[in-house]
Amino acid sequence: MTETRAKVQVVPEEWQELIDARVTVRRGGVSDPNGKCVVYWMQRAQRGVDNHAVDLAVKLANGLSLPLVVYFAGISNFPHANLRHYVFLNQGLRDVEADLAERNISFVMRRAPHESHERFFADAGAAMVVGDENPMREPERWRKHVASVLKVPFLTVDTDVVVPSKLVEKAQYGAYTIRPRLYRLLPEYLHPYENLKAAVAWKRPKGFLADSVHEDMTRDWKDLDRSVEPVEAWVGGTHAAMKRLKLFTGRMLKDYGSQRNHPEVDGTSALSPYLHYGHIGPITIALAVDAALKKDPSLQEARDGYFNELIAWRELAVNFVKYTPNYDTADCAENWAKQTIAEHARDEREHVYTLQQLEHAETYDELWNAGQLQMVHYGWMHNYVRMYWAKKILEWTPDVATAVKYAMHLNDKYFLDGRDPNGYAGIAWSMLGKFDRAWFERPIFGKIRYMSGASTGKKFDSKRYIRQMRDLADGVRGTGSLFPAD
Ligand SMILES: Cc1cc2nc3c(=O)[nH]c(=O)nc-3n(C[C@H](O)[C@H](O)[C@H](O)COP(=O)(O)OP(=O)(O)OC[C@H]3O[C@@H](n4cnc5c(N)ncnc54)[C@H](O)[C@@H]3O)c2cc1C
Repeated sequence: MTETRAKVQVVPEEWQELIDARVTVRRGGVSDPNGKCVVYWMQRAQRGVDNHAVDLAVKLANGLSLPLVVYFAGISNFPHANLRHYVFLNQGLRDVEADLAERNISFVMRRAPHESHERFFADAGAAMVVGDENPMREPERWRKHVASVLKVPFLTVDTDVVVPSKLVEKAQYGAYTIRPRLYRLLPEYLHPYENLKAAVAWKRPKGFLADSVHEDMTRDWKDLDRSVEPVEAWVGGTHAAMKRLKLFTGRMLKDYGSQRNHPEVDGTSALSPYLHYGHIGPITIALAVDAALKKDPSLQEARDGYFNELIAWRELAVNFVKYTPNYDTADCAENWAKQTIAEHARDEREHVYTLQQLEHAETYDELWNAGQLQMVHYGWMHNYVRMYWAKKILEWTPDVATAVKYAMHLNDKYFLDGRDPNGYAGIAWSMLGKFDRAWFERPIFGKIRYMSGASTGKKFDSKRYIRQMRDLADGVRGTGSLFPAD
């Protein structure tokens, strides 16, 4: 190892086996022989355990006999993020710090205004840098920028999907095309993480700039939108996510098939906010579900249904955002959908609401209003209601471009799991027929699948759901345990 320390190629023979499909070499070259540590710039995968990027960084650091420092940049202007999102993220960083410490790895958070990546890499003396992957436009731009300014190797690791996203090399038509491809690769990629420990501890240089994750990271950020309050019921972080996963696999999974389309009961995993922040990875979840199945073979159907959401639909959304440049506008619709929408552009809209009326749940439709209240006051909405919610916005706005704009705005502003590939894919599915097929012709919707309030409301106890969400908005706890932190 000491020999390689002086001049390590990014892909020298001894590291060749580390560069698998999960890893992208963003910048090649040699590691800095005078480097003082390996840095993992953590952005998407905000967890200290079950993280392939940490595992790779540990291997590289141990190979170079250097310490590993994990760095998180607390920027104050993440697109569409507000106080609700930052509080959840901030809670998660505490678990990151604690979990990394168990692995002999140091964690440094630097928050705005001194969160410059370049400065951190220089201050820490990065011999090489590891990152994670995020298919969204802006974070991908950051990675490209970092690759262009770094003088040392930069590798990114696709750790927030089960199957590395680059293995599905083009945009997919639907769940039916991506599912078999993903499932075929599960035996290769659905494995426990190594969770290796770093061999060398980092000694933080005197005066090294670092912010405490135990304080409010948003303090003195003047421009931050603080109008959206944190939701007490949700506690961010890997530890809360693991607790919920245990509850889900231990007690709730058996009823997932029958309960998952019942918004009035706590019947789904409610892990989407944790997945969004990378507090938990999909492999950890999938392995826990498989472990439950091993103990109880009667869970097979529930496991298959859950995998369909967690793996097929979620990774279809990643694929969508990765290969569709206009994933967040109405332009991402297929041609048949564009045509049918155009044909119905002049259809009369019986009700047209402003963004403000929608935001304040001021429509005639009690079920829709209940969903909107869940979004605003709980930061999450049940999937079944999300579909109905988005479709109604299409019906109640002057044109499809406005409808998509309003839906994305509200989705990303209020949901803890917002600003995620799943949100863009979910809105495109509901409003633009993406990944769906053409249905029967209807006013406004054309051939886009329609959901009527009357039939949707009969599929579950919608009266109870409406009552629960009113109670929630009034500060009274709803019936049923809809609160993950309970
Ligand atoms: C209009 C609309 C907007 C949406 N916005 C978002 C969003 O902003 N963020 C978000 O994470 N999800 C979004 N979804 C997808 C889905 O509603 C949520 O992921 C799900 O409700 C989260 O609850 P859960 O974790 O209990 O899901 P579970 O049923 O327990 O499923 C487990 C996981 O599978 C994934 N999953 C479940 N359903 C879907 C789906 N339809 N598409 C893709 N992945 C899925 C999620 O990661 C989820 O956490 C949206 C769906 C629609 C129709």
